[in-house]
This record gives sequence, structure tokens and C-alpha cells, in this order.
Amino acid sequence: RAMVGLYRAKLAGRNRSVLETGHDPQPTAAILDAIRSDAVDIALQPIVDLQACGKVVGYEALVRWCDTSAQTVTPAEIVRAAEENGLISHLGAFVLARACEQAMRLAKATPGEKLTLNVNASGLELIEAGFIAGVDEVLRRTGWPADQLVVEVTETFLDIDTPVAIANLAALRRRGIRIAIDDFGTGYSSLSRLMTLPTDILKLDASFVASIAPDSPPPPLLEVIAKLGAALGLYIIAEGVEYTNQATALSTLGYRFAQGYLYGRPQSVEQLLADLAANHPIPT
Ligand code: C2E
Ligand code: MG
Ligand code: MG
Ligand code: MG
Repeated sequence: RAMVGLYRAKLAGRNRSVLETGHDPQPTAAILDAIRSDAVDIALQPIVDLQACGKVVGYEALVRWCDTSAQTVTPAEIVRAAEENGLISHLGAFVLARACEQAMRLAKATPGEKLTLNVNASGLELIEAGFIAGVDEVLRRTGWPADQLVVEVTETFLDIDTPVAIANLAALRRRGIRIAIDDFGTGYSSLSRLMTLPTDILKLDASFVASIAPDSPPPPLLEVIAKLGAALGLYIIAEGVEYTNQATALSTLGYRFAQGYLYGRPQSVEQLLADLAANHPIPT
């Protein structure tokens, strides 16, 4: 309970700082309406294998919503509104279901490939008693295989983890679902704490990738993190890869997976299916 209170206090602090920046909080009611009526959607961003010429191995689902004035509301605003108004479990379940349905369509269009689907979960969802039952229900209904699902949790969540959250992460893993630590390297969790958590994948925060400059050797920390991942038996997905020199440096350091505008922006499933059809025309 105290931990939940702490997490809520953190959320409130984050909210305040947003307000202080002068950002217009007006659309909150509209955002909440959209979440309640399942009017939000998702975009899917490809995740590629750097050691296999950038072949697409899966997609990350990212929530999207445009209000009636066609103003884009950021995912961070949508998630925060949901977290602060008791709707995060509803939003999370909706995004998971949407993502699994769309991933099934992508899998049908790419037979023989074992695509992975990454879905973000808020720390508040993980401490809900009904979280696991909700995941089970979605997987059963959509048919998406548990061993092709990755649940991403941000590192900032780890320092306020609770026994319920840890038990839920362990329950996901028993089903074959993998756990990724999102934005790895930006939080305050100690490495020893990290090693005791049920984790399979680290998502290297985009700020590390951005620190790779052209024509100079990559920062030593990137080599350390690559070795850490290998030593712990964790896969690493590098986030925010925008330039080929970054991809080359990461690949040389042994990084296996990457995600970023260089490989593809988050897109609708319709766009992705059209691209797949254009690249691999079905013989008539
Ligand atoms: P994230 O999970 O770390 O997702 C990666 C973010 O980086 C996405 O921002 C993506 O559009 C952006 N990105 C990807 N490649 C590049 C690149 O090459 N350059 C740059 N500059 N950015 C890139 P987005 O979609 O705005 O989402 C922001 C955050 O909101 C996500 O960060 C995630 O923490 C959260 N989020 C998004 N969808 C959901 C959701 O369904 N549930 C929850 N709980 N959180 C979500
Ligand atoms: Mg993520
Ligand atoms: Mg991330
Ligand atoms: Mg991020």
C-alpha cells in the first residue's frame, strides 16, 4: 500500500512538472472519453536483427490517438491521463488486445516467420490483482502465442516494485512471456536489484544511441552495457537508431537488436500490410 502511495505521488509530481511547463492540459476529459470508448488506436514499430542485415523480427505496439481537432496527443499524455484516473488497466488491456489482433494479421502475411510482439505495461497495471487473468484472456481470445509476447516495463518502475508486481512478472514468465526493461540506463535502479528481477531483455535507452557520433569511437559505456547483457544472458534492443553509423557501431559492439526511424517509424497495421504486399508480391 505504501509503495502504491509512493508511485501515485511520483505520478502527481510528474503531472505538476508538465503543468509548470505550460503544456495545455485541456484535452484530459476528451482523452478519458476516448479511452473509455476504446477510440484510441495503436501504431506498430519494427524491431530488427542487426546481425541479420536488419531483418524485421517483431514490432512494438505504441498507443495513438488524435482528438477531433486532429491534434495529436502524445502517448505520454494518454498514459498519464489513464494512470491518474483509474483507467490504466482498461487502456492496457485494450492496447494488448488490439496489438495481438494486428500481430496475428502481420503473422499471416509473413508465413514461416516467428514474429515477436512487444507491448508496454505501466507499473500501475502490474500491481493490479487481475492483470494476469486479463493477459490470459486476451491471448486465448486472439490466439497470439505467449512465447511471442514481450511485456515492456520501464526501469523507473523497478525502484518502487512490490511483491505483487514481482509475482505478476514471474507469472508472465511461467507462461513463456518475456519481460523487457524499457529505457534501460535512465532509471535509478541498482544493477544488483536489476539482476534479482525476472528479466529477459534490456531496451537500451535512445539517449545512449544518440551519444554515438559519426567519425569517433562509441562511448565506452556502450561496450560495458553490451558485455553486461552478454554476461547476464539478456538480449538488448537498442532504441532510437536513426543513422547508419549508429547501427554499424552497435553491430560491431555485438548488439543484436535495434529499433528506430532508420528501420521504420511506428505505422498502422494497414500501412505495414501494404508494404509487405508491395515487397513480396504474391504470385498470381
Ligand atoms: P517507449 O516504450 O520507449 O517507446 C519508444 C518511443 O520512441 C516511441 O515514442 C517511439 O515512437 C519513439 N521512437 C522510436 N524510434 C525513434 C527514433 O529513431 N527517434 C526518435 N526520436 N524516437 C523514436 P512514443 O510512441 O511517443 O511513446 C512514448 C512512450 O509512451 C513509450 O516509450 C512508452 O513508455 C509510452 N507508451 C506508448 N504506448 C504505450 C502503451 O500502450 N502503454 C503504456 N503503458 N505506455 C505506452
Ligand atoms: Mg517501450
Ligand atoms: Mg523505450
Ligand atoms: Mg522511451
